Amino acid sequence: MKRILNYINGEFKAPHGNLWLDNYDPSVGEVYSQIPDSREADVSDAVAAAKNAFDAWSSLSTEKRSKYLLAISEGIQKRLTEFAEAESRDNGKPTWLATKVDIPRAVSNFKFFAQAITQFSSESHAMGSMAINYTLRKPLGVVSCISPWNLPLYLFSWKIAPALATGNTVVAKPSEVTPMTAYLLSEVCKEINLPPGVLNIVHGLGPNTGHFMSIHSDVKAISFTGGTKTGSVIAQNAAPKFKKLSLELGGKNPNIIFDDCDYEDMLSTTIRSSFANQGQICLCGSRILVQETIYEKFIKDFTAKVAKLKVGDPFDSKTNVGAIVSKPHYEKILSYIKLAKDEGGTILTGGKSVFPKGHEKGLFIRPTIITDLPQTCRTNQEEIFGPVVTVDTFKTEEEALEKANCTEYGLSATLWTSNLKRAHRFSRDLHAGIVWVNTWLLRDLRTPFGGVKNSGVGREGGFEALQFFTEPKNICIKY
Ligand code: NAD
Repeated sequence: MKRILNYINGEFKAPHGNLWLDNYDPSVGEVYSQIPDSREADVSDAVAAAKNAFDAWSSLSTEKRSKYLLAISEGIQKRLTEFAEAESRDNGKPTWLATKVDIPRAVSNFKFFAQAITQFSSESHAMGSMAINYTLRKPLGVVSCISPWNLPLYLFSWKIAPALATGNTVVAKPSEVTPMTAYLLSEVCKEINLPPGVLNIVHGLGPNTGHFMSIHSDVKAISFTGGTKTGSVIAQNAAPKFKKLSLELGGKNPNIIFDDCDYEDMLSTTIRSSFANQGQICLCGSRILVQETIYEKFIKDFTAKVAKLKVGDPFDSKTNVGAIVSKPHYEKILSYIKLAKDEGGTILTGGKSVFPKGHEKGLFIRPTIITDLPQTCRTNQEEIFGPVVTVDTFKTEEEALEKANCTEYGLSATLWTSNLKRAHRFSRDLHAGIVWVNTWLLRDLRTPFGGVKNSGVGREGGFEALQFFTEPKNICIKY
């Protein structure tokens, strides 16, 4: 059975304790590889390597660092099919999705930050004829990047690329549930001769590997994407040492549909925003709010289309919905479907597991639509993170806004309306870090990305990321 290794100081290394974790293919429910169960000694090695590499890496010219990032981007691009198949097998997502979105996006992340760093500059503030202030932006040192399983390489590279571009050295950990493309990335780094220690990839469990990556005193900042509870644990661990933190956390995003929207566009996009990647995207619209006037029509059309989605083999190009990432997550989703029923919800379609031919032990759940639940119930308040949406109605704009804003989360929101004034007004008043009007998941890498309330602290993306990974220093010079 294939065993992947840690990538520390430019070398592939087995964990000190020789401890290993099983890695499952969720579409067949079988272990297909093993990964290091890294502990404190492995993390210490990685941090020491990163610390050692920092002076040379941060002193390189921006152009040289940019070239390394471009080489990584090209290295992934050359092996795109291999990366996409690995992502699909690890995660259960359709291979076409990994080929079309996940891996190209990782390629773009490295390319984007390779270019962005060449355009990064800092401010100066003139004090009349008395003095001039200028801001120096310096890299932080060793930073930890910790990412989740839903968009494995996409989110891993979203953190690593700006961290490296700005001159930091990195210790990074992918989710233990989906480690394979991070391992392939370490192969690419080796192939392009990235200087040893600049990027170190350590595999293992959150409470072990991730924990030591967040408390190590030589780690100056942590960029984390994952669940809200984990974010809170990391924030508490990082606080005593005043580490800089960027936390991208959970969501319970509303998808608000007014009767004056472009109906067909809304309908096809809503199917995507509900069930893409098995509903396991932090930006999925899991609470659909529909204006009363079009509710009956929407329910009929939406349910009919969703019932036809093909659930099954991720490697089949006709599959719309692949496997759920892991057994514990699969059970969590099913327990929420049961909770929804207990809370009085009506299941319009889905609501159960399926066992496609040839994948009888795989983890598949039919896309599920639930109605008749108040916004206050747990099903509507807690993040499920699976192929499950609820649909509720509203009469007025005020009611829609109240329902949209009624959770503890505030990551993203989608709004469907042709009324320009309403689009501006409503977008302004939504509690969300990102609002899409008449579209969903249309991403421009230059824009600030992140959430409000329990969805996170700080912003990533574009210059926000470059600012996060640098420390500003004001220098005041008297004329
Ligand atoms: P998770 O919080 O369980 O794990 C995320 C990462 O943190 C993993 O690498 C894990 O090993 C690590 N980790 C776990 N415990 C840790 C600890 N004590 N110390 C340090 N690291 C630890 O999340 P998940 O289940 O992998 O991902 C799903 C969650 O991620 C959902 O809540 C989803 O909304 C969120 N998410 C948010 C965004 C965003 O941009 N806001 C994007 C994608 C996913």
